Amino acid sequence: MSTRPLVATEKRMPDPAGNELLVAVEACGVCRTDLHLAEGDLPPHHPRTTPGHQVVGRVVAAGSATDRFAVGDRVGAAWLRGTCGECRWCRAGRENLCPTSTYTGWDADGGFAEQLLVPAPYAYRLPEDVSATDLAPLLCAGIIGYRALRRTNLPAGGRLGVYGFGSSAHLTAQVALAQGAELFVASRGEGDRALARRLGASWVGAAADRPPVALDAAIVFAPAGDLVPVALEAVGPGGTVVLAGIHMSTIPAMTYHDHLFLERDLRSVTSNTRRDGEELLRLAGRIEIRPKVTTYGFESADRALADLAAGRISGSAVLAVER
Ligand SMILES: [Zn+2]
Ligand SMILES: [Zn+2]
Repeated sequence: MSTRPLVATEKRMPDPAGNELLVAVEACGVCRTDLHLAEGDLPPHHPRTTPGHQVVGRVVAAGSATDRFAVGDRVGAAWLRGTCGECRWCRAGRENLCPTSTYTGWDADGGFAEQLLVPAPYAYRLPEDVSATDLAPLLCAGIIGYRALRRTNLPAGGRLGVYGFGSSAHLTAQVALAQGAELFVASRGEGDRALARRLGASWVGAAADRPPVALDAAIVFAPAGDLVPVALEAVGPGGTVVLAGIHMSTIPAMTYHDHLFLERDLRSVTSNTRRDGEELLRLAGRIEIRPKVTTYGFESADRALADLAAGRISGSAVLAVER
């Protein structure tokens, strides 16, 4: 981002075809995955694809094959954009693992734009009484974090460790605390640690600090492979460590005895299902999940990504499209 930042460009917007919605963007969250795509950690699927996959907007027009939403409805677009619906994973309710799944801002233009096309079956209905900038981070940071939290199998009232405290972590922490978990946060940034304390963490430490008690589960949000053995050492017998990112630096060598024995589980998270999204949005309507938002103008997408890369953002970054 420092040498080849994003550039604004004009593209012709096609009419929505089939089950597509043409959506006017109100706001779009900035995710670490956008940064991984912009910097080439994840290989591009098509050149010059517009990033952004936490989109809040309004339906402007719909293709003739869908009546799921009306013009003017507020909808969200998230990371998962398409699946085959027929493979063994799709049929088993694990569409996040569909080998031909497609992604917003990777396979098709995303929400760092004034408008985008969204397949109606993959759009979410969004409430009117929450601001677009507060809703946007729920659509990836919230959903993926929710899936990661479910995959921890955290017992009621259990101790949850969180490594890295960015956008997804600070939303997931709010869900876990609302569900009665005790929260232990290790993070590099002082601002992130202050945010963790304010949200109600019982213990806050630096990146690789050891919590004072054995954890029931931990989620590693930071894309740092060297935190994997650290988290596995911090969970007690039977504990689970979940890796929430799409990309991670190399995981160092581990020993069976120190890191996995005593039935510790190590799990990853891959994308999300639509069910994860619906559940998280329902949950967000019941318990108040409020991101700490830094808002950028639409034309400042390059600055938002640079700030994310440099660790200058505490909470979630969101692009707001003024019109
Ligand atoms: Zn499939
Ligand atoms: Zn994302």
